[in-house]
Amino acid sequence: MYHQILHDTKKRGIDVSDVKLNLKQMMAAKNTSVDGLTKGVEFLFKKNKVEYIKGSAAFSGENEVKVNLIDGGEQTLRGKNIFIATGSEATPFPGLTIDEKKVVTSTGAIALESVPKKMVVIGGGIIGLEMGSVWSRLGSEVTVVEFLGQIGGPGMDAEISKTTKKILEKQGMKFKLGTKVLKGDSSGEGVKLEVEAAKGGKAETLDADVVLVAIGRRPYTAGLGLENIGLEVDNKGRLIIDEQYRTKLPHIRVIGDCTFGPMLAHKAEEEGVAAVEFVKKGYGHVNYNAIPSVMYTHPEVAWVGQNEAELKEQGVKYKVGSFPFSANSRAKTNLETEGMVKFVADAETDRILGIHIVGPNAGEMIAEGVLAIEYGASSEDVGRTSHAHPTLAEAFKEAAMATYGKAIHY
Ligand code: NAD
Repeated sequence: MYHQILHDTKKRGIDVSDVKLNLKQMMAAKNTSVDGLTKGVEFLFKKNKVEYIKGSAAFSGENEVKVNLIDGGEQTLRGKNIFIATGSEATPFPGLTIDEKKVVTSTGAIALESVPKKMVVIGGGIIGLEMGSVWSRLGSEVTVVEFLGQIGGPGMDAEISKTTKKILEKQGMKFKLGTKVLKGDSSGEGVKLEVEAAKGGKAETLDADVVLVAIGRRPYTAGLGLENIGLEVDNKGRLIIDEQYRTKLPHIRVIGDCTFGPMLAHKAEEEGVAAVEFVKKGYGHVNYNAIPSVMYTHPEVAWVGQNEAELKEQGVKYKVGSFPFSANSRAKTNLETEGMVKFVADAETDRILGIHIVGPNAGEMIAEGVLAIEYGASSEDVGRTSHAHPTLAEAFKEAAMATYGKAIHY
């Protein structure tokens, strides 16, 4: 909103003067939201008779954990079934000590006390772009250093990634793609990073007030006492499970970031439900091809299913339909015309294989795509479904129509 008031409201006919950022108040508002949400979960525990024990647990037997209580003391719990959902932690960057003030992970990046003049982000994946986008829009000069040739991490469609990069660059973010960080030094006032082209080249030094390390996350299982019961992790630290979320000790199941699959809260949520259903009913199901990804930058990027590169690699024949927000009535009246919706459908059957969006409200709009994929829809199914005028969702319908050459407004 701050960025919008500074840059957009005037042309919409709202004159605002004396705009100032009150970061302390902004953080207080954020903390109120976070508190409300976490307390809400505690309330739901109570309502559903789930006992919440605050402490850290380690296996002391195959059916037993010892809990070091936060308030002191120890408690032993026994369970017929045990679920592990310990999540993940930021992968550290060798040679840079995380202090969550000058060298931060996402944890420190959402709690900075002032807007850094210069911020360098190591890793142009989801976290790097989300946090980079936030601080850039609050006034920071943000440079993202990314090892690969494109931003957004491996799941993002290359065309959407390119479009997103252009939009973020227009907002002032800078990108150094195909670049690796050699080493960092945070002993002085700021942080110095030595970087060079990934394929070898001249090294240069980047100065920053704050460096965000966002090169991925890794499963968090330290201190769980896995060795006491003989549970093993793979070479990426993920707990090994079967399709029913069972470890080799079948009464111990694992869901979420500490095992396979994308590290997303809503993926873990589906797994939690399925894992309980396996215990209670003997069956459960998660459709991993219909898990949406949303990058909460401004504008948002969202996708579900497969991207062009993945389909090419699998040798699948597909067709593409896309529709720009610049041709959508609502986006035009809202003065938010950047971005596009893109459908990828099977060349022969027209079944939707992937949907990729960058633009206003992408994170909400993708829900329709997830439903379409879950129900095995064709792009023509979506194209022949009425969408209200004037809404952004019409861009979604028209991208579907574009896969068979019938988009009306473009
Ligand atoms: P990521 O895997 O999305 O991106 C990491 C990026 O860092 C990649 O593009 C990689 O090429 C790059 N990289 C790795 N090493 C590098 C190096 N030495 N120098 C330069 N670049 C390097 O990881 P992330 O952004 O840290 O996020 C971690 C996980 O958390 C992801 O699975 C992400 O999906 C999840 N997450 C999701 C959301 C969301 O869905 N909105 C929000 C937060 C986190």
